Amino acid sequence: MPLSPARVLAALNAVRPPDRTSPVIGRAVVVGGSVAGMLAARVLSDYAESVLVVDRDDLQVTGERPGVPQGTQLHALLPGGFLQLEHLFPGFREQAVAQGAIEAPPAARRSYLDGRRKVVVPDDADSLAGTRPLLEGLIRQRVLRLPNVKTVTARATGLVCDGAVVTGIRCDVGGMAGVESSDLVVDAMGRSSRLSDWLEQAGWERPALRRMTVNLNYATALFRRPETDPEATVVMALHTPETRSDVAGAAFFAVEDGRWMAMMAGYEDNRPGRTADDFRRRLREQFPPEFGEIAGHEMLGEVRTYRHADSRRRDFHALRRFPAGLVSVGDAVASFNPVYGQGITAAALHAACLSTYLREGPDPSLPARRFFDLQKVVVDVAWSMSTSADLAQPHVDGPYPRGYRLSSWFSRRIVEATVTDVSTARRFNDVVSLRVHPRSLATPAVVLGALRANLRAR
Ligand SMILES: Cc1cc2nc3c(=O)[nH]c(=O)nc-3n(C[C@H](O)[C@H](O)[C@H](O)COP(=O)(O)OP(=O)(O)OC[C@H]3O[C@@H](n4cnc5c(N)ncnc54)[C@H](O)[C@@H]3O)c2cc1C
Repeated sequence: MPLSPARVLAALNAVRPPDRTSPVIGRAVVVGGSVAGMLAARVLSDYAESVLVVDRDDLQVTGERPGVPQGTQLHALLPGGFLQLEHLFPGFREQAVAQGAIEAPPAARRSYLDGRRKVVVPDDADSLAGTRPLLEGLIRQRVLRLPNVKTVTARATGLVCDGAVVTGIRCDVGGMAGVESSDLVVDAMGRSSRLSDWLEQAGWERPALRRMTVNLNYATALFRRPETDPEATVVMALHTPETRSDVAGAAFFAVEDGRWMAMMAGYEDNRPGRTADDFRRRLREQFPPEFGEIAGHEMLGEVRTYRHADSRRRDFHALRRFPAGLVSVGDAVASFNPVYGQGITAAALHAACLSTYLREGPDPSLPARRFFDLQKVVVDVAWSMSTSADLAQPHVDGPYPRGYRLSSWFSRRIVEATVTDVSTARRFNDVVSLRVHPRSLATPAVVLGALRANLRAR
């Protein structure tokens, strides 16, 4: 009997690298060397004789890069994602801290909902704060240290197929056309991946693309962080749509080199913080006092903005015809409203899907359906959480899933209870962190516990 989605998710969270490695494939080519591509390459290094990571950016260069335009914006690493990174890269925490990342145990994290400070869950998992280039760079360093992983700077331009099997990719290396042959191609090209076009050009179906328009406007700025500042290293504040604030949320994280990274987000025509003065004013006026304190510090550089139009997913699992020798991971499959911070953690779970699939010794002449079935569980969970929260925004007008009104009523009660009730907050945090299936929140015990907690709080 197939496992329930909840058990699949639990099993994926428990995946560890194998003790002994024995290649089940010859050469793997990963297209896209960002977070999802590098995590896939880490897993493939256990199962392939060699792994080549192809990226249009030079991955020997550290820092911000054009292939990842979101890299200037604040990136949260959810505790679930941090745990996955520690499993894939033993000693990741120490390595990260040595390079400037800041530890964020539960006691150092603060969260507000509509101005009310949430309870701390003392036994929650730890997290880590740092800029996106630092986090990505740490992962990259560890992967490129593996003896059977190499990178090349090239732009992938299409698939090479032999009958029903993908046997490589076409690429452009400094103006010269080339081919990289492969026993398994991994698409990790991010949300703008061209894989669907390439499949169609090669005579295959393109996966259905589902979109939910969110029209989110991000703004991020760096501030100097004096030693006397709040002890908290991660502070987040969300406004529910009922509060009708023009800023949907803000956060500030301690990051490397003695800095705070502060972020604000708004929807539709609300573009908070496009200028330095506006950024500071809104932090002071619309958020708890710590935000005003940060706003008073020296701003380092300019406010950087980013517009995120939609959440989107590509349903590879539903394709009737699909070639062997090909999988897709990370944002290329599903990318969500970034406010919920799921991307890196979801990519780590996609890597766990790949590990599970390869460990089972798949037949390389057949499509990787087992991989896509596992991945669907991860995508469904992250998608349902992100989109159901977005449907509560007045400007988001569907599509509404069946039973939406009732489920959203319960969700609001549970979210309210996370402000005062440790037990509800613990379970909710595990769900948000993609460690536990959202169905675990829909039990009578959890719902009644939340309702009682809300009554007590009133
Ligand atoms: C504003 C914003 C804020 C976010 N905040 C968070 C957060 O707080 N927490 C979190 O976990 N996630 C966050 N995310 C999501 C996170 O950035 C991604 O989920 C994460 O980077 C994984 O993406 P990826 O590796 O699949 O793709 P990407 O990071 O987009 O990388 C795609 C890679 O593919 C390469 N590439 C593309 N096309 C080609 C080609 N033809 N040939 C060769 N190379 C190619 C690119 O150069 C790039 O390196 C945020 C996203 C946005 C937009």
